[in-house]
Amino acid sequence: PGNNEAPHRCGSVAVVGRPNVGKSTLVNALVGAKVSIVSNRPQTTRHRLLGIATVPGGQMLLVDTPGLHREQGRFKASAMSRVMNRTARGAVEDVDAAVLVVEAGRWDEEDTLAFNVLHDAGVPVVLVVNKVDRLKDKTTLLPFLAEVAKDRDFAAVHPISALKRKGLDDLVADILAQLPEAPPVYDEDEITDRSQRFLAGELVREQLMRQLGDELPYATTVEIERFAEDGALLRIGAVIWVEREGQKPIVIGKGGARLREIGSKARQQMERLFGRKVFLETWVRVREGWSDDEAALKAFGYGQ
Ligand code: GDP
Ligand code: MG
Repeated sequence: PGNNEAPHRCGSVAVVGRPNVGKSTLVNALVGAKVSIVSNRPQTTRHRLLGIATVPGGQMLLVDTPGLHREQGRFKASAMSRVMNRTARGAVEDVDAAVLVVEAGRWDEEDTLAFNVLHDAGVPVVLVVNKVDRLKDKTTLLPFLAEVAKDRDFAAVHPISALKRKGLDDLVADILAQLPEAPPVYDEDEITDRSQRFLAGELVREQLMRQLGDELPYATTVEIERFAEDGALLRIGAVIWVEREGQKPIVIGKGGARLREIGSKARQQMERLFGRKVFLETWVRVREGWSDDEAALKAFGYGQ
C-alpha cells in the first residue's frame, strides 16, 4: 500500500534437462559470466553449481546440474554416472522453481523422465525450448510447442537461443514470477557459490572436454594443487588425473603440444573470469580406475 513498485523476488531455480541441451550455456547467459563450463560433449557438467543472476526486481539462484540421463552406453552404471544422477536429482529438492531445458524440435524419453522428476517434486516448471537458432524450418516451432505442452502443466513455455541470447528477458520475467517475495541472498556482484579454486579446475576440465577425442575426456579429472596469490598474479597448479598409464601421452601430446594448448586456453579463460594475470602449471598423473571408484570420486570433490 502506498508503494507501486513491484516486490523484490528471490529464490532458487533448478536448471534441469538432458545432457547437452544447453543448461550451462543458459546459466552463463543469465549470470552474465562463464561460471559453468560448456562443451559440445554430453556430461560436461559433473557438479552442482550455483549461478547467481541479479536482475532488476529480483535475484535468481540458478542451480546448474549434470543432465539427468539413463545409466547406459558410455555412461553405463559406473560410479560417476550414479553420482551425477544423484547430484541432478538432489538439486531439485527444496527449490522454488525449475527450468526444464529441451532442444527445439526434439522431445525424447529422457525429457519425459526429467519432467516427471520435477512434477513429482511438486515445483513449478518453466519449459525452455533452446537452440531455436538451429531450426531450419521456423514454421515447425509452434506445432512443437503445442505438442510438448499438451497435457503438461508448465508455468510458462519459452523458445530461446541461450547461445545467441535471444528470448532471455521474457524468460527471466516468467522465472521471477515463480519466486517468493524476498530480499536478495547474495550481493549483486557475486556470481557463484563456488570458489575461484574450484572454477580454475573446471576451466582446465573444460579444455579437456573440448580438446581430447572420444572417450578420453571421461577418463580425466582435474585437481587444483596450488592456488596462491603472488602480488597481482595468481599462481595455479593443476593436476590432470587419468585412469591408465597409456592415456598420459595422449593428454601430453607430441613434444607436450597438447598439454601446452590445454594450459594456454584454460589460462586465458581464468584471466578473463578472475580479471587478473594467471601463471598456470599443469601435470598429468595416473590414478587407476578413479571414475568407477566411489572413494576416489569423493576425494576429487564429486557428489558435493
Ligand atoms: P548442457 O550439457 O545442457 O549444460 O549443455 P551446454 O551448455 O554444455 O551446451 C552443449 C552444446 O550446445 C555446446 O556446444 C553449446 O555451445 C551448444 N548450445 C547451447 N545453447 C545453444 C543455442 O542456443 N544454440 C546453439 N546453436 N547451440 C547451443
Ligand atoms: Mg552443463
